Amino acid sequence: MNLEALAQKSQQLTQKHFGKTILLYAPLYLSNECNNQCVYCGFNSKASGKRISLTVDRAFEEAKILSKMGFKHILLVSGERKDIISMDYLKKLVVKLRDLFSSISIEIYPMSEDEYRELFLAGVDGLTIYQEVYDREIYKKVHPFGPKSDYDFRFETPERGGRAGFHRINIGFLLGLGEWQKELQALASHAQYLQKKFWKSQISISFPRLRGFEPLNPVTDKALVEMICRLRILLPTVGMTLSTREPAELRDNLIPLGITQMSAASSTAPGGYSSSDSASEQFSVADHRSVAEVSAAIFAKGYEPVFKDWDRNL
Ligand code: SF4
Repeated sequence: MNLEALAQKSQQLTQKHFGKTILLYAPLYLSNECNNQCVYCGFNSKASGKRISLTVDRAFEEAKILSKMGFKHILLVSGERKDIISMDYLKKLVVKLRDLFSSISIEIYPMSEDEYRELFLAGVDGLTIYQEVYDREIYKKVHPFGPKSDYDFRFETPERGGRAGFHRINIGFLLGLGEWQKELQALASHAQYLQKKFWKSQISISFPRLRGFEPLNPVTDKALVEMICRLRILLPTVGMTLSTREPAELRDNLIPLGITQMSAASSTAPGGYSSSDSASEQFSVADHRSVAEVSAAIFAKGYEPVFKDWDRNL
């Protein structure tokens, strides 16, 4: 099948299973302190730059800004510092956020099944965890130090989250580390396995392309389109997420092809919504549009932006 035929098929399947809707969410960065040394990340423990960890109250103030923008789905993000973004911290914050957001997801350090269960009971319903790269050799090279160098513990994380009861499990690999064709195969098998095993959860895939780091295996826009379409045909009901790492024009063009959720108006630095003098970012945002502008672009493509598709009382 050529790319055009793939795109048509992908569009058809996406509309059949998801309608013409795009769910909008926003990340809230809690801390840029981290024990790991991932060579591609601005938060790695050797990187210079201002470090900030928000208090629970400051994080809540940032969340209120996102709530005022209209977001109902929030993703809590942090570097891996269990001593700073502790279980106690997370539970206190989640309790405060529950009244403002219908869905709370986390993208923090990998946890045990019991810890995930504790957070699920506190009100977290979604887990994002990227393997970063499925190729074990490259994984070892780019994660030289810290708890993240344990490939298997990370690989088994989505499964622990599924067993703990999360309704949303989002996986992916960093575009630019391994050869994308091989990585795609591994990701598809991983997602297929999770879909079968945790059929009550929505399994989603993200496409985080490396920014600010020379990719080992660059991924072109055309390859990204091919990846989205091939995955959609293989996994018609999987959610697909695109962040503001990608520029506005490309994001708009990918809307009809298979994407089902997008972040908008994002800051990738802790404190970034309330202050311009904030800490260093994890990656630089390429789509700087406001929520209203992203919503207008979604409407212009004939799709509807959705702010809430989940209620924890359901
Ligand atoms: S990718 Fe995550 S774990 Fe690695 S240095 Fe960055 S914040 Fe830490």
